[in-house]
Amino acid sequence: MTVPAPPLDDTDVPRFLDELGVPGLVDAHVHFLPDRVMDKVWAFFDRAAEHYGTAWPIHYRTTPDERVATLEKLGVRAFAPLVYPHKPGMGRWLTEWVTDFAARTPGAVPTATLYPEPDVTDYLGAAVSAGARVVKVHVQVGSFDPRDPLLRPAWGLLAEAGVPAVVHCGHGPIPGAHTGLDVFGEVLAEHPTLPVVLAHAGMPDFAGALDLVGRHPRVHIDTTMVGTAFTQAMTPLPDDWASRLVDVADRVVYGSDFPNIPYGVHEQVAAVAGWAAADERLGAPFLRAVLHDTPARLLGVAST
Ligand SMILES: [Zn+2]
Repeated sequence: MTVPAPPLDDTDVPRFLDELGVPGLVDAHVHFLPDRVMDKVWAFFDRAAEHYGTAWPIHYRTTPDERVATLEKLGVRAFAPLVYPHKPGMGRWLTEWVTDFAARTPGAVPTATLYPEPDVTDYLGAAVSAGARVVKVHVQVGSFDPRDPLLRPAWGLLAEAGVPAVVHCGHGPIPGAHTGLDVFGEVLAEHPTLPVVLAHAGMPDFAGALDLVGRHPRVHIDTTMVGTAFTQAMTPLPDDWASRLVDVADRVVYGSDFPNIPYGVHEQVAAVAGWAAADERLGAPFLRAVLHDTPARLLGVAST
């Protein structure tokens, strides 16, 4: 089967999913945060030109209820609401907040976060026991070293439980003190069975991310912001990106960064559809795997 025509706008996404033959999108990379934290994040993006050299108008700047409704209208079956601390003392609070959010929100899978601090295994272990299915780790915003000895038992706990970590450890959009696929590669060398999703496909080090995927059977990449016109202008993909995905086709998961993106979600879906169409070894089966099957399996979302 050929790849359906890419969605023209957000309202066209359900048509696209229907033609593709998937029961919806499973988005491994969505953000929900307590209102006052999200307000701070949005204030940061309002000054994006200072940080990133480009404007970053938040496309889905609506109330939490409206955002949940938007995901449903887009055909998102299940999503991982990700939270992340930028300083010590927030990891427990954010994990407890998102546990509650997921419990009361249709489609949201329970998640957690972590930070190198003395009680990290305490709150992380509690969240995993309570059913957390994915953990967000933001090395750039948190500005911590993922090799910090305080995190060693936390990585071990996740490897043991088989709970994946969505890790933003690439140098994009701006490098942090401890970003770099080489740095996180050392964590993987120490915890080779840790299930990981390299956020933004390791942007801008796409080759480094694919190298880690090739070396560790439980490492994945997510599509978050990758290949959209906005990102291509700053961090273009290698020309042979689609063919590079052939060998790792079962380790690519859909992510969008909803709601904190400067364009509609349909652009992300269209970008992934473009890769699928660019190499006949990918095609519709690859697209179904990326947009639904692989993230569903990773997040423990039941098949319909
Ligand atoms: Zn994100």
